[in-house]
Amino acid sequence: DRIARRRDREFDQFRKRIKDADQFKVEQSVFDDATFAAIYKLVQDGHIEAFGGPISTGKEANVYEALGDDDTDVAVKIYRINASNFRQMREYLEGDPRFRGIGNDKGKIVLAWVRKEYANLERAQKAGVRVPTPIAVERNVLVMELVGLVEDRARRLAEVNVENPQTAYEVVREYMRRLHSAGLVHGDLSEYNMIIHEGELVIIDLGQAVTVHHPNAGEFLDRDCRNVANFFSRQGLDVTGEELHEYVTDV
Ligand code: ATP
Ligand code: MN
Repeated sequence: DRIARRRDREFDQFRKRIKDADQFKVEQSVFDDATFAAIYKLVQDGHIEAFGGPISTGKEANVYEALGDDDTDVAVKIYRINASNFRQMREYLEGDPRFRGIGNDKGKIVLAWVRKEYANLERAQKAGVRVPTPIAVERNVLVMELVGLVEDRARRLAEVNVENPQTAYEVVREYMRRLHSAGLVHGDLSEYNMIIHEGELVIIDLGQAVTVHHPNAGEFLDRDCRNVANFFSRQGLDVTGEELHEYVTDV
């Protein structure tokens, strides 16, 4: 009991410290008590040492830089339960055999989504696709490898001058093929969800990725192929979505 009280006090102090930190001042809404508890757990488990600034504040999640275990830099993606478009999330989850019967509870759906993102990263990595290494997941908080450095950030493909579009295209095409062979379709692939650091291309944002059994998997794959082909066409390559689709699905 005394131990429990001390734990509560420590948690209160931790929460206050985080709440007072500059980088979170404007983002108070992200951190409900349960989110604080999740961050606290990740800190206690040694996955997060200290928070840095935000890398991205998106519609549904914020991504922060942080110091992880063993002096490594990590990216911490925190989903906002309330801001989440859970109706759309549910559609992605429902058709996925891994999450069938997920139901209607908003909180449950967001938490399943985050676990799915973690599982998708693991599966993609096993299949030989370069993605951020997943490190830990706790409730609505995902910790993963930070691609690039805090002081030298990775850029989205959309923001850089692609030096060798042909090579980049071949890499992406191969990653898409490997992902598909591993039974996954990204579902939101474009120049906005690929980052590049020191010439290395990394696929990110796999929360919405579904297994090929999902009723909309075909449609998602068509769209991914179209987005990617369109981007590389604008870079001067002579490629089409159909061609890419054929490459990706031809085993
Ligand atoms: P959006 O709504 O903008 O697509 P999102 O909420 O879906 O964002 P992500 O796409 O996963 O979140 O991440 C947002 C941004 O944060 C990315 O565009 C990228 O710049 C950065 N980012 C995410 N994960 C990492 C990572 N592991 N390493 C480095 N940067 C990252
Ligand atoms: Mn994204």
